[in-house]
Amino acid sequence: MKTGGLADVAGALPLALAAEGIETTTLIPGYPAVLARLEAAEAVHTDANFFGGPALLLRGHAGGLDLAVLDAPHLFNRPGNPYAAPDGADWPDNAIRFAALSCMAAIIATDDRLGLRPEILHAHDWQAGLAMAYLDGAGRRPGTVLTVHNLALQGNFDAGLLPALGLPANAFRMEAAEFHGMVGYLKAGLALADAITTVSPTYASEIQTPEFGMGFDGLLRHRSAVLHGILNGIDDTIWNPATDNLIASKFDADHLAGRPINKLALQSHFGLERNADALLLGVISRLSWQKGLDMLLPALDTLLALGAQLVILGSGEPGLEHQFRAAAAAHPGRIGCFIGYDEALAHQTQAGIDAILIPSRFEPCGLTQLCALRYGALPIVARTGGLADTVIDANAAALAANTGTGLQFSSGQLIPALHRAASLWSDRQTWSHLQRNAMQTEISWRGPAAQYAALYKSLV
Ligand code: ADP
Repeated sequence: MKTGGLADVAGALPLALAAEGIETTTLIPGYPAVLARLEAAEAVHTDANFFGGPALLLRGHAGGLDLAVLDAPHLFNRPGNPYAAPDGADWPDNAIRFAALSCMAAIIATDDRLGLRPEILHAHDWQAGLAMAYLDGAGRRPGTVLTVHNLALQGNFDAGLLPALGLPANAFRMEAAEFHGMVGYLKAGLALADAITTVSPTYASEIQTPEFGMGFDGLLRHRSAVLHGILNGIDDTIWNPATDNLIASKFDADHLAGRPINKLALQSHFGLERNADALLLGVISRLSWQKGLDMLLPALDTLLALGAQLVILGSGEPGLEHQFRAAAAAHPGRIGCFIGYDEALAHQTQAGIDAILIPSRFEPCGLTQLCALRYGALPIVARTGGLADTVIDANAAALAANTGTGLQFSSGQLIPALHRAASLWSDRQTWSHLQRNAMQTEISWRGPAAQYAALYKSLV
């Protein structure tokens, strides 16, 4: 089940933690796609009326993960993505659906009879944040961690729902689940978890300011002693240009000669002029306000005047989809666009572009720049959140020391960054040094997993 980076993390972190000696069971809703893939399923708990219908808790595994699946058909047996119907509208009972998930987490965490009681409960985002409220006041409970993947998504719901939630008597208070008169699911987690993490050190500082705090900066400053920034990694077996069967020609940092074949293949795919000398820029992204791609539109004239080409792979806001399609139609041979979600094309794009553009307004961590580093596509990124933490700007000092891996620009300065990129591109030897540095950047889960392991141990 994937709508963005959280899925990458939930899929990869347990495997990396196993190497640290930590056993993980992942609690996930029984969506149809999950139940279809679940192997060796065994019921460990039944409830005839769990949040309005019968529910089972199944243990089993899939994709190398040990899973506990909340099989509650009245809540999760639905088409569409996890949060919205096929027409794009949020399910009207999302508050109940994810209260049920959170409540089950609290049952698992405290009831020995299920045979799953953990030493640590690690909740991700608002969908699991209310677990901390269900555990509020429990006599015996595990250590708790809440990870914030995106503070913009908060799960604030009408207080009229309270009777249906069955929270402990005192949980609807300012120091717990109450948020400006509403029930705040993320708020409950932020207020009550023993430790809070977010997905980069820079985002961890930014969210303590009014500009990025989205209403929670005061609470986060209050909790700053237990707030940690731990970067995400990527799965370096899936994202490995030396073994990637989805791309036209495999390569690695010592054998870059294979890379231009991917560039020509990508130019053909998007109907661009096949020209190894044109600077080929790319975008792989949700098309949303957060990602700042509206600011790329007024920069297109500059990009074209510099002789560059552009490919866009993305989907999201209809207005942006329309404008990028129109830009491609107005500049055939120079701008190519695919509106949709396509994993194989994402790999082919990373392997073929010279640089990736990420002008995000905020970016908790960002994964596409990590994939780009691995594939030798230099990230050109806004200096914010995880982008600031993972890309080394090729400024004069970094060029002298040969440590640069991409370009950073401050908010609103995309056009000067394009000029800098074009000027670096004109010196192909320097460019290939940057490419090699990028490809040697450590982007795996090994470092982050060790940091999570140390945090868990401090809470046990
Ligand atoms: P977010 O979670 O905010 O969308 P991230 O950079 O953390 O952003 O993660 C996005 C993930 O989704 C990456 O794995 C990226 O490659 C992938 N992705 C985004 N848009 C597309 C698309 N149109 N086609 C294929 N993969 C995409």
